[in-house]
Amino acid sequence: MTEAKKILITSETREFFILHGADDEPMMVYCPECVGSGKFLGIEAAVEISSINVRAIISGIDSGRVHAFETTDRQLLICEASLLVYVNSEKF
Ligand SMILES: [Zn+2]
Repeated sequence: MTEAKKILITSETREFFILHGADDEPMMVYCPECVGSGKFLGIEAAVEISSINVRAIISGIDSGRVHAFETTDRQLLICEASLLVYVNSEKF
């Protein structure tokens, strides 16, 4: 029973693990795409740091170049490292 539940959670979350988090701090999350832990930002912080708009960020997420996941309370968290690589490569 426990094993079945674990598999379900793994497939839904794509194996993201939240290591640390506070309301006003970026979360340190293990990102399987980066193969390491990094800062994950809310959408507003991501816009501020990247200087690109929400639509461009979502487009990066859709193309798989920006790593992101949704928490159980429907907050979108964005991998800062991949976001910065995306911004630099696209030259917005
Ligand atoms: Zn990442």
